[in-house]
Amino acid sequence: MRLDKYVSLARIGTRKKVKEYIYRGEVQVNGETVLVPALEVDEKSDEISYCGKVISGIDRICYMFYKPQGCVTAKNDGNHKTVFSYFPELDTAGLFAVGRLDRDTEGLLLITNDGDLNHRLMKPEHHVEKTYFFWVFGAIDEAGVQAVRQGMDIGQGERAKPGEIEIVAAGTYTELRGEMERDGCQVVKQNLHRQDVTAGYLTISEGKKHQVKRMMRSIGCYVVYLKRVSIGRLKLDEELEKGGYRELTALELAEYR
Ligand code: URA
Repeated sequence: MRLDKYVSLARIGTRKKVKEYIYRGEVQVNGETVLVPALEVDEKSDEISYCGKVISGIDRICYMFYKPQGCVTAKNDGNHKTVFSYFPELDTAGLFAVGRLDRDTEGLLLITNDGDLNHRLMKPEHHVEKTYFFWVFGAIDEAGVQAVRQGMDIGQGERAKPGEIEIVAAGTYTELRGEMERDGCQVVKQNLHRQDVTAGYLTISEGKKHQVKRMMRSIGCYVVYLKRVSIGRLKLDEELEKGGYRELTALELAEYR
């Protein structure tokens, strides 16, 4: 890895600042001052110091991010804002998102530089549950609930493993429109007054592409609002504004390590 990236990941400063420190002769590799930010260092065998103090490995960090709708979970995108554009004061070079949320999905997204954490949360065999709050067009009857609980075909030759579903509101659009809007669900279609709508929580332990939407399609519903509210025991901090983030606390991190 490049020297400036290593020092920046150790949270000495942003990549830009770290370059300045290197040019000023404040960074040493194996006791020798190095003035080349692009120097390749070996994370395991080289000893890197800043102002004479050894930087002991990369500081692993994880942010809880309240993803708003409208941004993509990608590092770069020619057409849309990315989730990383909400971290202007950080050097995001070594950071990545744990899994993906669709552009129109909001809620809990973890942003980290910790590959192990990513592995533990994302590998299906670790069965980490993710819970989504949804509004759908359509009514979910007992057969729909059972289909979710038993696992279902979701098209393209894929099956969803059994999940859990809890319905919290069901009625017509006219009856529930106020609640939908309060939750942040904006529907622009006309003539919906007798449209059945349902709200609830769906918990799954996999992360197939568009999985919640595809599961809902399989039971005859169409997702109009989706928000991830938890990953494992970690809940979205509702004190965060949409687009806001904070570091996970040591206690929260201990859940995953
Ligand atoms: N399932 C979906 O369909 N979309 C998401 O963004 C997350 C889960």
